[in-house]
Amino acid sequence: MKQATIDSEHQDADIEALFGSPFIQKMQFDKLKSLLLRLYAAKPFWKDRMDKAGLDPATMSSLDEFSSRMPVMDKAERRKITEECGGAVEMADRTIAVPIEDVVLMAATSGTTGEPTPYPHTTKDIEINSELFSRLARRAGIRRGDRIVHAFGLSMWLAGVPYVQFLQKSGACVLPVGAEAGSERILRTINQFRANVLFGTPSLIEHLIEKAPGIIGAPVSSLGIKTIICAGEPGAGIPEVREKIEQAYGAKLYDHGGSMGLSCDCEIYQGMHHFAEDYYYFELVNPETLEPLPFEHGARGLAVQTSLEHEGMLWVRETFGDIVEVLTEPCACGEAGFRYKVIGRVDDMLKVKGVMVYPAAIEGVIASFAPRVTGEFRIVLTEQPPRVTPPLKVKVEYGEDVPESELALLAKEIEASMRSRLKVSPEITWAKPFSLDRTVGKTQFFERNY
Ligand SMILES: [Zn+2]
Repeated sequence: MKQATIDSEHQDADIEALFGSPFIQKMQFDKLKSLLLRLYAAKPFWKDRMDKAGLDPATMSSLDEFSSRMPVMDKAERRKITEECGGAVEMADRTIAVPIEDVVLMAATSGTTGEPTPYPHTTKDIEINSELFSRLARRAGIRRGDRIVHAFGLSMWLAGVPYVQFLQKSGACVLPVGAEAGSERILRTINQFRANVLFGTPSLIEHLIEKAPGIIGAPVSSLGIKTIICAGEPGAGIPEVREKIEQAYGAKLYDHGGSMGLSCDCEIYQGMHHFAEDYYYFELVNPETLEPLPFEHGARGLAVQTSLEHEGMLWVRETFGDIVEVLTEPCACGEAGFRYKVIGRVDDMLKVKGVMVYPAAIEGVIASFAPRVTGEFRIVLTEQPPRVTPPLKVKVEYGEDVPESELALLAKEIEASMRSRLKVSPEITWAKPFSLDRTVGKTQFFERNY
């Protein structure tokens, strides 16, 4: 039995050492059962959903039974419920575990494709996520006395103000600059406040490398950043992007996913260690049929999440559209539990002659040709994805020092590399160095000409 005097950091380390064990599976099952029983009794939406699925929480006997019966909830279904209910607040009220009045913090996706998806937090959710962010900080070596420049978009995003709040439990000092402030303000703030930790999207972090000499009169290596935490895009998991960022800043780069994933210190990227098996049940399903897939080393599929204790941030077999590969064999770093690599987004998936390709994988191949290319590119679509009639057209920016006479040969090299690494035959066209639009925030993969 644990002593009540053990501090929370040690308790966390104890539970984290048990990840992947039958003990954790039993814990997940017990927590899930009690969650479903509560939802069944208190929320008509969930009672109906369980009744329709033929899932009785009182007699449910395994996690497999849950996975095989309970349907997956995706963005499209959330949108449909929002339309039925008449608004985002009504949708949240219907689908969270507690009365809407218990929500004290509401973040949301921007809703560029329709209604925003709300991320409602209760006081308990903030406590849980703060706990999980202190695990993240401990694993990334972030301590009291460190100063974190937070450069994710602040306004309404889950990774915005909520992250600023969660990160404070680590004991470090957070400077909420936000991506909206722009590169100049971000760079100046790092300098003026001697920040040594930087949170942001990989594309923003890369963008700062280009901007620093013009703004602070020195390369980013002069900033004294020791740790960079990237999220929101798969860039930090791409070896070439990772190497470029680590070398430019002289910092350690971690790939981070929500309140559950962080890469480790291994020299070669091993995916993100899931650091919250006691709070989430993580599954893989087939992205087209949504049927459960075996959870085994190297398996690839659509990630499906169930939160076991959250109230407002309640997910019951929810998918956010990430296609991942799971790695269950032990990692050299010694952390217990499984890892996952984000391969792409189900919305970005392209199908070229039946072969599934993700822009993040194309990014990796192109980045491996730097400095002969800048790394910036666009996939030119002439019809509604995922279908792409071959060849897959990719517009790539060549590097500043590449003479135009060498471009034809370089295009052939990139095409050959994509053929062998991704099993698709692209057609490379060229864009002048720094001619493609640099977005601060999310990477722009597509030029849509349809
Ligand atoms: Zn590891």
